[in-house]
Amino acid sequence: MRRFRPEISQAASLLDIGTRRIFSEEHDIFRENVRRFFTDELAPHQDRWEKQGHVDKDIFWKKLGQQGYLGIDLPVELGGIGGDFISSTIVLEEQMFLGYIGASLYVHNEVVIPYISTYGTPEQKEKYLPRLVSGDIVGAVAMTEPSAGSDLQGIKTYAKKEGDDWILNGSKVFISNGYLSDLVIVAAITDLESNKKAHGMSLFLVDAGTPGFNKGRILEKIGEKSSDAAELFFEDVRLPPAPS
Ligand SMILES: Cc1cc2nc3c(=O)[nH]c(=O)nc-3n(C[C@H](O)[C@H](O)[C@H](O)COP(=O)(O)OP(=O)(O)OC[C@H]3O[C@@H](n4cnc5c(N)ncnc54)[C@H](O)[C@@H]3O)c2cc1C
Repeated sequence: MRRFRPEISQAASLLDIGTRRIFSEEHDIFRENVRRFFTDELAPHQDRWEKQGHVDKDIFWKKLGQQGYLGIDLPVELGGIGGDFISSTIVLEEQMFLGYIGASLYVHNEVVIPYISTYGTPEQKEKYLPRLVSGDIVGAVAMTEPSAGSDLQGIKTYAKKEGDDWILNGSKVFISNGYLSDLVIVAAITDLESNKKAHGMSLFLVDAGTPGFNKGRILEKIGEKSSDAAELFFEDVRLPPAPS
């Protein structure tokens, strides 16, 4: 039986499920499940997460993974459920529906996973994607620095080649998921002579626990208080080349 889908003029609010026509009926059913999940499984922890400044990894990330809400639009052969991008945005919308619940799903789902699935080597995909999708590891992206935000070309974090390895030095700030991160994609200058600064930059995959990689304090914010934005420091971090 077809579900009742109110026209906008009939709806009490645009937040009523079924109102916006970009979403299909299947999306509406998916949204109901996601909303129930956030309400029943995650929202009860929110007060505590806000006070401590970060989520519990085993609850927030693992439950999202078990539910299939991480890497939703990743193809099945890469470990995802082969869902569509709209379903992935539904999860983000529902995270906001009750206020901001938990940590930065956006960075994990829409930045880190796509970077690896699009640009990663087969070995990197195999190493990281299944665990990012299961919620066993948390992803972060580290671009901003104390002296470079909107104008990313001003970053000072630098990686120089030493034999086959790269040696990374620098610091980052405001990094969402930074405090609990297991994998950080770090932007660094690699070619000071490059004609265009953007062409002299590279992205490095840095695992938590790599010698020389240290996490700083969780930064206090006026909102999104359960989201662990942190400073990150890199001191002579030795990174092997990506297997080719
Ligand atoms: C909650 C939170 C989470 C974040 N998470 C991450 C993360 O995960 N990873 C990460 O790398 N960074 C993260 N950031 C950093 C964020 O990307 C930067 O704050 C952003 O890029 C802006 O940089 P900035 O704060 O240095 O501001 P600035 O670049 O100094 O900008 C200050 C003001 O000037 C304006 N401005 C700047 N340049 C121009 C221009 N050319 N013309 C007109 N106006 C201009 C800006 O719009 C802004 O209003 C996060 C920030 C916050 C607050």
